[in-house]
Amino acid sequence: MALMQIAEPGMAADPHQRRLAIGIDLGTTHSLVASVLSAVPTVMRDHEGKHLLPSVVRYLCDGDIHVGYPAVAAAGQDPHNTIASVKRLMGRGHGDVQTLAGHLPYDLVPGEGMVRLRTVAGEKSPVEVSAEILRVLKERAVETLGGEPEGVVITVPAYFDEAQRQATKDAARLAGLNVLRLLAEPTAAAVAYGLDKGSEGIFAIYDLGGGTFDISILRLQAGVFEVLATAGDSALGGDDMDHALAEWLMREGGDASDPLWRRQVLQQARTAKEALSAVDETLIVLAPSGRAAHEIKLSRSQLESLIQPVIQRTLPACRRALRDAGLKLDEIDGVVLVGGATRVPAVRALVEASFQQAPLTDIDPDQVVAMGAAIQADALVGNQREDLLLMDVLPLSLGLETMGGLVETIIPRNTPIPVARAQEFTTFKDGQTAMSIHVLQGERDLVQDCRSLARFSLRGIPPMVAGAARILVTFQVDADGLLAVRAEEMSTGGRSEVVVKPSFGLNDEEIANMLQDSFTHGAEDVVKRRLSEAKVEGERVREALITALAADADLLEPAERAALDKTNAALIQALSGTDADAITHAAEAVEAAAGPLVQRRMDSALRRAIAGRSIDDLGD
Ligand code: ADP
Ligand code: MG
Repeated sequence: MALMQIAEPGMAADPHQRRLAIGIDLGTTHSLVASVLSAVPTVMRDHEGKHLLPSVVRYLCDGDIHVGYPAVAAAGQDPHNTIASVKRLMGRGHGDVQTLAGHLPYDLVPGEGMVRLRTVAGEKSPVEVSAEILRVLKERAVETLGGEPEGVVITVPAYFDEAQRQATKDAARLAGLNVLRLLAEPTAAAVAYGLDKGSEGIFAIYDLGGGTFDISILRLQAGVFEVLATAGDSALGGDDMDHALAEWLMREGGDASDPLWRRQVLQQARTAKEALSAVDETLIVLAPSGRAAHEIKLSRSQLESLIQPVIQRTLPACRRALRDAGLKLDEIDGVVLVGGATRVPAVRALVEASFQQAPLTDIDPDQVVAMGAAIQADALVGNQREDLLLMDVLPLSLGLETMGGLVETIIPRNTPIPVARAQEFTTFKDGQTAMSIHVLQGERDLVQDCRSLARFSLRGIPPMVAGAARILVTFQVDADGLLAVRAEEMSTGGRSEVVVKPSFGLNDEEIANMLQDSFTHGAEDVVKRRLSEAKVEGERVREALITALAADADLLEPAERAALDKTNAALIQALSGTDADAITHAAEAVEAAAGPLVQRRMDSALRRAIAGRSIDDLGD
């Protein structure tokens, strides 16, 4: 088939050879693909002129796969093979989706590790399902652009962790797309509004989609987008408005326990809700089986009173985000609306009232994220003259386990990415030849309160006294937020390396909780950290004493030995308790009592070292 240059209707074909790049908003409810055409970020349409692709995939028994509207239409008759909201399962393990599983119309394959779905076409992973959505969007782009895109920018929620980002990237690779980078959805929305160009300030991104609500507070400074806080509700969105209206309609008759009837009413509710964003009144036709069809007139104000409780539920998260960011309302320079459900006039009114300013609404809230992604993709393939320096930040801190079950933060959260940070560690025991490295993500001080990402060992450390080896651990996070960890023994250059790829990740609630925890447990953590540090130091003193006594106990007078044993017994006693100060004092007492032993060991080591050497050798 000959390739044709197809121009967007009403738009001249691009006269210059441009490199093709696309941006994709891979949404829970809808997905979109956009590209910069003749300097204008443009969302591409399907054959019927529709921008949105419902994020729904249906597997058929003949091997066929339907994506988008045809899949939505079949959801009622074939719920087990029609996968919606797969984004909620991306990068998740079975344990992560326990609460979700009961509410899904399709079946998960029981087991450990990554979630899998059971369909007539066999078991599918969320990555494969997402890849089907991406394939359709890619096809749409190829047809519109008249060629294969060189690269794609895909957006992900700001709070997506390692595993969820990795899963998104895997899906893109499966769909034959070259990912230029992943971009946080709120950042993409800000880019679409041109907030990256010279504007500085603090912006709130209010994103109300079909089934999720996300509020992000971004600080924009010198082209760096810093996510100051994210909050939200992973079970709140336009769907809840549909349910509220459907419950009300259901009172008009029909069998509420009949799933077919419920689905019909729900569909009617959604259509009516969307219509009432533009008009003041709409007609709903209900046809319960066995009864005559009848019409119900619904006004916008009636709808508003029904959905008000749903809309109000977005406010606690907004307050939480502001509090986490340490900001007052009047410090917000602008509010950007994202997500189809922010089309509802009552939502806009609520945002305006609670943020005390009119939100930015010039760009279609359905399209704004995809447009921002397209702008970023266009810049990344080199189509834009000005250098667009655009950075995201790490959503959660990354660190390593150190002695005593503590986490040493290597890269704190909100550090702009890409970033590489290295830190030196040392051995704890004399003659230690291996070190186990445990990589963690989270905001708390203790290992048990953070998420374990990976473990690996560095071997072949030359035996040395405790504290002499120098082990350099490097954390490298790429622009997509993906982590590689390298450990290196500096004197011999022994290396060990992992690219962190966990089999499942955190869910957004967990992330929100982890952030919340770090605020509420801050004081408690300080106490625990002090105890843990005191214990590590106490153990170190005890180890050192055991080593010294094993080698040179004969250097001590009996009275000195008795005094030392007494302090040592007190230290052992203190170590079994939870009083950090007591441990520290006991350890100090042992060190004081061991003073003469340490002095004599050093003298005798010196004597051994110089024995047999001439005075000349000792020169200076
Ligand atoms: P997601 O980001 O989860 O994929 P979207 O941003 O596509 O979700 O939002 C989908 C929601 O927006 C649905 O609940 C849909 O009914 C709602 N929506 C779309 N258009 C309108 C409209 N004109 N008025 C009110 N709600 C709308
Ligand atoms: Mg969205």
